Amino acid sequence: MRRSKVRHHRISPGEANVQAYNSNMKPILFTNGTILLADRELPLGQVLVVGDRIDQVEARAGAAPADAEVIDLAGGYLSPGFVDVHVHGGAGHDFMDGTEAAFRAVCVAHARHGTTSLLPTTTVARHEQHLAFLEVCRALRDRDTGGARILGAHFYGPYFAREMRGCHPGDPVRAPLEPEYEQYLSFDCITRATVAPELPGAEAFLRACRARGIGGNAGHSHATFEQMEAARTWGVTHVDHLFCAMSDRARLRIEQTYPMRGGVMEATLFFDDLTTEVIADGKHLQRELLLLAYKIKGPDRLALVTDCNRALDMPDGPYVFGPTDGGETILRQDGVGITRDGKSLASGVVGMIECVRTFHRLTGVPLVAVIRMASLTPARIAGAERDLGSIAPGKRADLLVLDRGLNVKQVFVSGTWVP
Ligand SMILES: [Zn+2]
Repeated sequence: MRRSKVRHHRISPGEANVQAYNSNMKPILFTNGTILLADRELPLGQVLVVGDRIDQVEARAGAAPADAEVIDLAGGYLSPGFVDVHVHGGAGHDFMDGTEAAFRAVCVAHARHGTTSLLPTTTVARHEQHLAFLEVCRALRDRDTGGARILGAHFYGPYFAREMRGCHPGDPVRAPLEPEYEQYLSFDCITRATVAPELPGAEAFLRACRARGIGGNAGHSHATFEQMEAARTWGVTHVDHLFCAMSDRARLRIEQTYPMRGGVMEATLFFDDLTTEVIADGKHLQRELLLLAYKIKGPDRLALVTDCNRALDMPDGPYVFGPTDGGETILRQDGVGITRDGKSLASGVVGMIECVRTFHRLTGVPLVAVIRMASLTPARIAGAERDLGSIAPGKRADLLVLDRGLNVKQVFVSGTWVP
């Protein structure tokens, strides 16, 4: 037996692009770096992956199993893969293009930026375009996409308040109607669904979602604080992109002189049971708003999202937000999406690792907490925290090799290296 001579075949991250790891599902040992657990760092710890699962997490490096591939972290980090609960597209494609090719291209693009699971997110569009989106989402859920795993849909548009629709097209914005949404819900692949709670039919929609185990989001809403309070009893547990496309004291005051009252923003900050998310690209929100969100919600109730459109990894210029047929033209410029008149933001253009780096750099929040807001917290929001979202024995081996500058060097989805 000559096994001992080859059993610890070391491959440096630089060689990774020429060799697919774990194609025959050998155990993998990650060593010689800092392991980022959900609540602490393990400097010089090690992690053993067997098959598609994390098998062992050790505080100190030890011997590798005889047949293991050893991956040298080279003094960098091993991070849990990121989970993005609000993402529209990338690499030139939008999930609303409604084809398997578009879905796969977006999943591959976001994996390069550290996302290993995501919720394809709809935009405002016509009925048949939502049906096409849901058809593909159902077909690809939990399947190998060649990149990030699809956990289920974030059904986001079209039930928005017209005045809060942001960069979404105006014509197809509508209130929820049962015959229509029953068709959407019957696809049985929606993880979370958004509605502006002040719309007629919002209560029935949220209750129908809750009955099917779908999490309720409030978003693109002009609701008052009182309407948000009621919406919590109908099933709203999460609020889309805090501070963006939502009512607040100042906006509500335009319609009523006194007494001043709170809106979606104040309700989101006030109610501890509501989780929320920030687009942490450094363009949507200045440092103080990230710090305010973090101070009040904390890392277990605040998630990072990219809200990324199809312009990820693409040059500056005009792009269609949403479906090519009927979407709004926006511009990629200065590291963000903006409307053509240049007056409003129109979603993000960067991946999750950029959001992690930006949040960490701007706020000084410890790395472990920032990583948790991009992994375990959104996994919980997506109802998947028992299976993924952190480095723990038994969980899916969704792992990122990062260097000390927080650049993604290697990505593993279910223990398989994603080139
Ligand atoms: Zn969005």
